[in-house]
Amino acid sequence: MIISIASGKGGTGKTTVATNLAVALGNGVQLLDCDVEEPNAHLFLRPTLSPAEIVTMPVPVVDEDKCTLCGQCGEICVFKAIVVLGETVLPFHELCHSCGGCMAVCPVDAITEVGRELGVIESGHSNGVEFVHGRLHIGEAMSPPLIKAVRARTRPGGLTIIDAPPGTSCPVIAAMKATDFVLLVTEPTPFGLHDLKLAVGAVRALGLPCGLVINRADMGDDRVRAYAREEGLPILMEIPFDRRIAEAYSRGELVVTALPEWKPKFVQLFEAIAAIVKHTGAKSE
Ligand code: SF4
Ligand code: SF4
Repeated sequence: MIISIASGKGGTGKTTVATNLAVALGNGVQLLDCDVEEPNAHLFLRPTLSPAEIVTMPVPVVDEDKCTLCGQCGEICVFKAIVVLGETVLPFHELCHSCGGCMAVCPVDAITEVGRELGVIESGHSNGVEFVHGRLHIGEAMSPPLIKAVRARTRPGGLTIIDAPPGTSCPVIAAMKATDFVLLVTEPTPFGLHDLKLAVGAVRALGLPCGLVINRADMGDDRVRAYAREEGLPILMEIPFDRRIAEAYSRGELVVTALPEWKPKFVQLFEAIAAIVKHTGAKSE
């Protein structure tokens, strides 16, 4: 089973839920931190990480001796990532989506591919959890291929928890799609509700079952709960604002370690998700 944990915006407690759920279950559960622009699950799990493995994506290079400047490569590229300029063909690797179209249409085989470095993958073990994360190079915008590379480490047949990037754009879709359940972490504020609605729209577009965790649940107002009722979204856990949880977070400690009474609550959260997945059918198989 694959559970992705997402939120419409950052700072809602998504990583807190992902790491504590994984450690509460332990027993070889896999945690993939796909928030590759700002991975921080390792700060709480503190695994000993393996040497970094470089992840690349293929991008075109042009052999000027073969090129006839026919322009077909530039015509097929909707991303304007390769253009004929005067007497030369210029690839713009940062814009390239690695579709291979330019290489396929070149009539004289002047285009080959090289690997462009996007970031790295590191893995390790901690607290009974098998951990993998991706780290995108600073300034790099092409995160979905790195997220896919992290997801390719999913261990078949086991339980995998994905810490998705915040937001509702391509990176979070790459992290959520083909998972069995999306757990949306939100907070009961007008901003929380606004971003939750966007996130629910994205999850529904993917046809995935989802449920909510309301963090800092005793603050703000009741509009998130009213929205959940209207939309038939189950609220599977509420985490009140608790100074001890905030302090544990700021020390980089897990809630289930600092406050062990939370461990069974996270186990119950998993059991509720498993019951929904059993009812709706697994999507990742
Ligand atoms: S591989 Fe695709 S996206 Fe990249 S330059 Fe060629 S046509 Fe454009
Ligand atoms: S399609 Fe090939 S030959 Fe034509 S301009 Fe591009 S690289 Fe040159």
